Amino acid sequence: MRIAVFSTKPYDEHYLSSANADHGHDLVFLEPRLVARTVALAEGSEAVCAFVNDVLDREVLTGLAERGIRVVALRSAGFNHVDLHAAADLALTVVRVPAYSPHAVAEHAAGLILALNRKIHRAYMRVREGNFALTGLLGFDLHGKTVGVVGTGAIGTVFARIMTGFGCRILAHDPHPKAACADIGVTYVPLPELFASSVIVALHCPMTPETHHIIDGEALAQMRDGVMLINTSRGALVDTAAAIEALKSGRIGALGLDVYEEEQHLFFEDLSDRVITDDVFSRLLTFPNVLITGHQAFFTTEALEHIAHTTLANVTAIERGEEGAHIISTERVD
Ligand code: NAD
Repeated sequence: MRIAVFSTKPYDEHYLSSANADHGHDLVFLEPRLVARTVALAEGSEAVCAFVNDVLDREVLTGLAERGIRVVALRSAGFNHVDLHAAADLALTVVRVPAYSPHAVAEHAAGLILALNRKIHRAYMRVREGNFALTGLLGFDLHGKTVGVVGTGAIGTVFARIMTGFGCRILAHDPHPKAACADIGVTYVPLPELFASSVIVALHCPMTPETHHIIDGEALAQMRDGVMLINTSRGALVDTAAAIEALKSGRIGALGLDVYEEEQHLFFEDLSDRVITDDVFSRLLTFPNVLITGHQAFFTTEALEHIAHTTLANVTAIERGEEGAHIISTERVD
């Protein structure tokens, strides 16, 4: 199938081209994001391959369908950015990569915790400037601390296992508790109890209408003073304005973000010679106890190989009318 690959970076081209040796699709690599004004670039293709900050609303999907696109292949697990009802109305098949490397994301979440706790990001800068003072770098033992995990799917489960390895006690909240987590000693509790008891709260649930701003002022008010909050899931799980207030009051003692509500205007691009006009994001950058990475938790060799193979296998299965494509059904959004 001819596939227009939007938001292409050099690493996407590398891994998709390698994986395509097994599939023989005609890949058209396009640097622009998929938005209404770039839909025309898909002309002549039967499928588009899109990433997390591409726009897949009704307007864009209609434009794609009008140009003969039949398949939208997401090279991501999350699909909150797709209007699945519009896709169904337009007879577009949407596929995704359900679980590519839960280890990549869970390990990155653990990395944010270690860096924030021991102030490694600050120590790195100090030592380079010849400042070997320790004042301000005090951390705490992770061993024996309570960690709250919101969402124990593929990533949350691996994360819980990693934190168990540090000797942490794990509380979790998930509408679908997992036996595998209970087996390693995870205790499922209601969200207010998780918030009230956890020294670290880590978000590993998907972005849905129900989880939008699951961390808002009210949730933060239930947390312990100085709580460490980690979000590697989706930006809109956290009400950023409320998080800033909680950082100012000390309610949040450390904030680790790999995702941000308005990241589509920032992430994945080199903006180092431009002025950042997002004042909320700029405010976050002023806090010494905030560590932000630009949606890189998935970014490991293993994950990129898996994403490329599964993405192309999804398209191949649909092309051949075979079973096995990871199709997202519209029922999942209701
Ligand atoms: P998953 O579908 O395996 O697990 C999600 C879990 O969240 C499920 O167990 C589900 O029952 C639970 N859940 C749903 N609603 C909930 C709620 N209201 N409260 C608590 N739990 C709830 O997904 P996954 O593979 O573990 O991925 C989790 C999220 O991580 C994805 O949705 C995606 O947004 C994000 N992600 C981020 C990156 C990155 O690079 N930063 C990469 C991959 C995935």
